[in-house]
Amino acid sequence: MDHSTRSSSSSATRVVDVLLPVALDQAYSYRVPRGVELAPGDVVCVPLGAREVIGVVWADNPNPDPRLHNRLKDVDSKLEVPRFREELRRLVDWVANYTLSPRGQVLRMTLRMGEHLGPERVRLGVRLVGPKPQRMTPARARLIEILSDGLLHGKSDAIKEAGCSAGVVDGLVDEGTLAVEPMARALAAPEPDPDFAQPDFSPEQTTAADSLRALAAGGAFKVALLDGVTGSGKTEVYFEAVAEIVRRGEQTLILMPEIALTGQFLDRFAQRFGVRPLEWHSELTPRTRARNWAAIAAGEAQVVVGARSALFLPYAKLGLIIVDEEHDQAYKQDEGAHYHARDMAVVRASIAKIPIILASATPSVESEVNARKGRYQRVALPSRFGGQHMPQIEAIDLRREGPMRGRYIAPRLAEQIGIAIERREQALLFLNRRGYAPLTLCRACGHRFACTICDAWLVDHRFRQRLVCHHCGFSMPRPRLCPHCNAEESLVAVGPGVERLQEEAQALFPDARTMVLSSDLVTSIESMRSELTEIAEGRVDIIIGTQLVAKGHNFPRLNLVGVVDADLGLGNGDPRAAERTYQLLNQVIGRAGRDQGYGIGYLQTHQPEHPVMKALVACDREAFYESEIDARERTGYPPFGRLASLIVSAGDRPTAEGFARKLVAMSPPDERIKVLGPAEAPLAVIKGRYRFRILVKSARGVDLSTYLRQWLASGPKTTGNLNLEVDVDPQSFL
Ligand code: ADP
Ligand code: ZN
Repeated sequence: MDHSTRSSSSSATRVVDVLLPVALDQAYSYRVPRGVELAPGDVVCVPLGAREVIGVVWADNPNPDPRLHNRLKDVDSKLEVPRFREELRRLVDWVANYTLSPRGQVLRMTLRMGEHLGPERVRLGVRLVGPKPQRMTPARARLIEILSDGLLHGKSDAIKEAGCSAGVVDGLVDEGTLAVEPMARALAAPEPDPDFAQPDFSPEQTTAADSLRALAAGGAFKVALLDGVTGSGKTEVYFEAVAEIVRRGEQTLILMPEIALTGQFLDRFAQRFGVRPLEWHSELTPRTRARNWAAIAAGEAQVVVGARSALFLPYAKLGLIIVDEEHDQAYKQDEGAHYHARDMAVVRASIAKIPIILASATPSVESEVNARKGRYQRVALPSRFGGQHMPQIEAIDLRREGPMRGRYIAPRLAEQIGIAIERREQALLFLNRRGYAPLTLCRACGHRFACTICDAWLVDHRFRQRLVCHHCGFSMPRPRLCPHCNAEESLVAVGPGVERLQEEAQALFPDARTMVLSSDLVTSIESMRSELTEIAEGRVDIIIGTQLVAKGHNFPRLNLVGVVDADLGLGNGDPRAAERTYQLLNQVIGRAGRDQGYGIGYLQTHQPEHPVMKALVACDREAFYESEIDARERTGYPPFGRLASLIVSAGDRPTAEGFARKLVAMSPPDERIKVLGPAEAPLAVIKGRYRFRILVKSARGVDLSTYLRQWLASGPKTTGNLNLEVDVDPQSFL
């Protein structure tokens, strides 16, 4: 750490307010040491208790409380990283205000330059630029000798070699002998070439690409909804907007719901632009993270592909944001600041006055309504590239299939899988359920295995030979005796998970090569990518997967998709269930027939008359959106009304319930706002904590955040082990 700017003088010092990446809303005041220039946005190192933390100067404080003045500490040093632009500071304030999160918590997301390495490792160099100083000391002489070649030397290397302190360098910088500048890094991201390879577009794609290019060139805040069926070439088309921004010398951020699934994307990007884009995700090594962060902040990284957290990075000159698969629920962060990355991306674009593209084959109802109302510009790709047909979809009515007797693949589907294998094509079995079986019970006494600290059944995981709680991770070996009645060999697995499906597929087709793709079986982004490559290269016959397989892949030999339980997501009473199910099933069946153009999807269902199934079978997305938008409008659910959910939890039930009731009783009356509950949360106990939920519902134009803030400020305070979680715009209404 560079302590050179520390100063002990205290007369007539300036004071700045520094926001720190801790769970606090207020910025802290610090004195600015003499001789140091600080402006809002500067990244600084300050003392906090016994620690040193990195924060950002948020504002000048011209009138600090005089009583505090003498107790204020000095800013320790200013980091040699680019100043945070006002646009990012406003985003932090905005998100904190909207989500009711402490500003420091939101700031933390911007400072993810690798806590262990720290930004001080952004290498600084020093070089000789001016005449020798008037006053010479042995240390100065050694340093100047080392730098006499006029080249840029690493600052810390030179200091070490000269055996001097950082202060010696700083003194010579002040006197104009030396200059400090950032070392040229090995470029973190080589420059994409906008003209590396241009695809031949269909007329439909050309029109769409023209629109997006114009949007990018417009350089103003505008939202486009790139609405194209699976396989229509959305990616190729939005690359044209990226190329435009690269030509302008600005940065593009491409958000993806699941960074592990972007292997093919990175290759396609390289085919189009000659180099891979810079990645941002949680598995970067600290060194790469620090380097990428610096490259983004310096404006060197021209195209960044990342998961939702990439939205909060300090881009030097962001010119375009693209949110791919904008409908995906993975964009919602449910820990810490509860924010929706798609929505906050639109906010960032509007603050930065830049265009944004939301891409999806099945837009969220929110975006669809915005496009219908003309608030978003719709750019449509209604057909598949290359004249390929959309997959045909058929429902298999399980009520008519007769007893399945512990089997989950209907004979009609099994027959089709056999045909596909014979043709040397692939089949995909989709079931959004990890593990072997969702429930284990004792045949003798009826005992069901439940988690001891959550309100949830334990899921049988045969690969791991354990019963696992999907909420807290608790697990135990599958016992031989029933712990309740001591019966032997009496446990039965109830219902299917992907592991059980694999067993069944293997029994049906003993010679077929099967592979299960499920998040609990994937150990890293690398292994996920290599498994996907194996599938794409045709080394697997039957793919069995959870929603991981639904997203964005191109498997050229895949023409058959069987949805094993199409009703799975519908029965839970969540008002968004229909939308979710429609999107997921559309997406997973959209994997079929992308190359050969004769894909087919089978939906195993107990309710073929459900509007979601009917719309899918009829390939009638209009019908789906019509009925769904209608239902939302009638019930006042988003986007026609607004919602927030408050979850109160405590180690015991009466405390949680009592607090929730008190909170509701103190809600300020407002005829535009309904406060519902408290009711037991859908998962009433997680990790031994009892949970009650309060739902706040309002008309569309109401500023719920302000209402909530006032309410919570005057309401009872959480103490002891009580916890209150606020979720504005919850994704699940459950
Ligand atoms: P989407 O994202 O809309 O599902 P993709 O962008 O993945 O569609 O495109 C589907 C496939 O078609 C990809 O393999 C892509 O490379 C190919 N493709 C799309 N447009 C073109 C084009 N104009 N020329 C060549 N290949 C294309
Ligand atoms: Zn549990």
